[in-house]
Amino acid sequence: MNILVTGGAGYIGSHITRYILRRDLRPVVLDNLVYGHRESVPRGVPFYHGQIADSKLVAKIIRQEKINAVMHFSAYAYVGESVENPQKYYENNFCQTQKLLETLLAHDIKYFIFSSTCATYGIHATTKLSETLPQNPINPYGFTKLAVERMLSDYSQAYGLHYAALRYFNAAGADDDGAIGEAHDPETHLIPLALQSILNPEKQLKIFGTDYPTPDGTCVRDYIHVYDLAAAHLQALDYIMRKKTSDCFNLGSENGYSVKAIIQTCEKISGLKVNYQETVRRAGDPAYLVADSSKAHKILGWQARYDLEKIIATAWQWEKYRRY
Ligand code: UDP
Repeated sequence: MNILVTGGAGYIGSHITRYILRRDLRPVVLDNLVYGHRESVPRGVPFYHGQIADSKLVAKIIRQEKINAVMHFSAYAYVGESVENPQKYYENNFCQTQKLLETLLAHDIKYFIFSSTCATYGIHATTKLSETLPQNPINPYGFTKLAVERMLSDYSQAYGLHYAALRYFNAAGADDDGAIGEAHDPETHLIPLALQSILNPEKQLKIFGTDYPTPDGTCVRDYIHVYDLAAAHLQALDYIMRKKTSDCFNLGSENGYSVKAIIQTCEKISGLKVNYQETVRRAGDPAYLVADSSKAHKILGWQARYDLEKIIATAWQWEKYRRY
């Protein structure tokens, strides 16, 4: 099977590309390289540099590579930036996806896996989020992802598109052999920043808020390894193709860890001290974001396999020897 991976040079997309390859399926990558890294796409994987809204290019890829299904990762994902410059996010994450879908439908591509997010839920009183909760995002990034989910739902009813919207919790970790890993520029995520503070004395991690209503006062998140996400993508694709259906799934480990617990685990894995300072809250951070992933367990037969220590061990391996 030939799977077009948009954003396949980005953090999550590149790990999924590798995972697809290891499962003896054929990934084809389309990436505009705005945030992606060409080096993270394995040699031998067909690579196209361009925009998902470029219908001529996408049509050419579909024909040349005999594409059967699409996994769509290309999106901007900086929450703060989405507040300051929502136009950039609606244009890229929503309008370009609309164009991509138009081209796919025109070429009879009916299977689509969408990289969505727990940021579509917004803030809820419950500590574990399930798919049945209302989606009320609190920032433009979350809204762009929710808007695409709605578009997919309408398109599936009207045009027979089959899709899975996968709502990730905190994607983390790296390839087991250290070949690829998280390399955002700028980096804003907790685990890479904590590990970088160990390796580079000039970098200090800031803990954003110690007055949250959580056991140690710092925010609690659900960290999920990128290869666990990858496995879910293939299981979801298999499901929508077999059943000719569409659905949405939360992908998380169902375990919550505070910022301080992450720091402790980084210190345990590395044997070194994280250099940090406690500061004020970052705007828009909910206290708790932990998944109820029972739907993915039941329907897809999916389970997270990497625990927090394994996640951080792969991230540490990557940070120590990273190539880009
Ligand atoms: N965080 C922090 N310092 C940082 C980056 C993140 O204290 O430099 C906290 C952040 O407030 C959140 C958690 O770590 O509670 C995870 O943040 P991240 O940006 O990694 O992912 P998010 O949950 O925002 O998607």
